[in-house]
Amino acid sequence: MTDIDGYGGSWLEARPDLRSFRDEVRGFIRSHLPEDIRRLVAAESMELPRDYFLRWQKILYQQGGWGCPNWPEKYGGPGWSFEQQFIFERELALADAPRLLSFGVTMLGPTLIEYGTEAQKARFLPPILKGEVLWCQGFSEPNAGSDLASLKTRAELKGDHYVINGTKIWTTEANIADWMFGLFRTDSSGKKQQGITFLLLDMKSPGISIRPIRTFDGGHEVNQVFFDNVKVPVAQRLGEEHKGWGIAKYLLSLERFGIAEVSRSLQTLGRLKSILRRQRADGSSLMSDPGFGTRLAAAEIKLRALEAMERRVLFGPGGPESMGAEASILKVMGTEVQQGLLELQLDAVALGAAPDLPAEGQDAPHLPPEARYAARAFFNMRKTSIYGGSNEIQRNILTKSVLGLE
Ligand SMILES: Cc1cc2nc3c(=O)[nH]c(=O)nc-3n(C[C@H](O)[C@H](O)[C@H](O)COP(=O)(O)OP(=O)(O)OC[C@H]3O[C@@H](n4cnc5c(N)ncnc54)[C@H](O)[C@@H]3O)c2cc1C
Repeated sequence: MTDIDGYGGSWLEARPDLRSFRDEVRGFIRSHLPEDIRRLVAAESMELPRDYFLRWQKILYQQGGWGCPNWPEKYGGPGWSFEQQFIFERELALADAPRLLSFGVTMLGPTLIEYGTEAQKARFLPPILKGEVLWCQGFSEPNAGSDLASLKTRAELKGDHYVINGTKIWTTEANIADWMFGLFRTDSSGKKQQGITFLLLDMKSPGISIRPIRTFDGGHEVNQVFFDNVKVPVAQRLGEEHKGWGIAKYLLSLERFGIAEVSRSLQTLGRLKSILRRQRADGSSLMSDPGFGTRLAAAEIKLRALEAMERRVLFGPGGPESMGAEASILKVMGTEVQQGLLELQLDAVALGAAPDLPAEGQDAPHLPPEARYAARAFFNMRKTSIYGGSNEIQRNILTKSVLGLE
């Protein structure tokens, strides 16, 4: 926990019900979050082992479906108000607990609830809720990232199943996932947004192979996935054939919002301050260095502005449902703030941020504990302005909607 309260001053003061909810959540996380998981999350490495994700999800499931805070009670979620969900996610971040399972819990769950048949909901929702499976997202392809609708990986209907051929790229966690939800080309005759179908497929299906992609932080979280005559039963199609684009747009709007990451940036800010306060050999600290002080103040002001905007958008009259261009502003600002804080952290630890890090659990007595992952976190988080709709694309959306330009 940091010196950051995480709630923008007086927000909770008028709401004793939410304050006691926050205390309950905070107490639970503090007493139930396993220390090995907490330490790895605190290192700001996205690359948690599969077991860590699932172990934590199971713990939350046993606490009344807390692992799916955005799901209604009917499907095993806690049925929380939007404010409660907000507080829960903030407390997870402030305690260095893992993020919600983004593919299964945040994206696919609500999409299945919206578009799935009753049989699909009964089959696919409980294993996500209970922490039994991990999902990955097979949307992007070589030459179909920002221009996603250009995707070419084909799914051909043959009797009661589709046969898939082609490749997906940048598939996060495909190497540890059990299932993939993806978009596949079922018709090329009309507009490219038409003729795309949304399928759910078992990663153990014959014909799937996975090639790891090493990222420049040295990690392995993204992959290229190849499909060679992979059979997918028609029962695993979400929505109608050729109508996957509308479902994908719904799902992507859920992803884009989460990327603002205000809570995690608050936690990074707290960690950064503790690094800056460290005393050097001559008794001074970087906190009193005018260069660092100015940069820290600028970063914190930006973060506080983002936090205020996030609250206004989420708890304003229309609530999150009414969010339009604001989602793009949150994404662009959120990722800029996040990357700026990590850059400042990297500069603060300077040579201590050796990219060649000792393995987890090994001692690194020459480094302060916060410094060990600064380089890795900095390089890893460059991705946030690329995925979820790159920041350039978000700026295009903003230009069109705010300035009315086409
Ligand atoms: C770490 C990481 C994890 C990812 N995980 C997943 C995943 O799990 N599943 C998945 O499906 N995808 C995933 N992606 C893919 C991600 O969604 C794409 O990288 C993203 O959509 C950009 O596509 P691209 O890489 O093909 O770049 P391109 O679309 O080729 O863009 C290249 C550059 O050109 C700019 N650009 C493109 N078009 C425009 C335009 N019209 N106007 C202005 N600028 C433009 C872009 O902003 C970018 O800077 C991941 C990506 C990364 C980096």
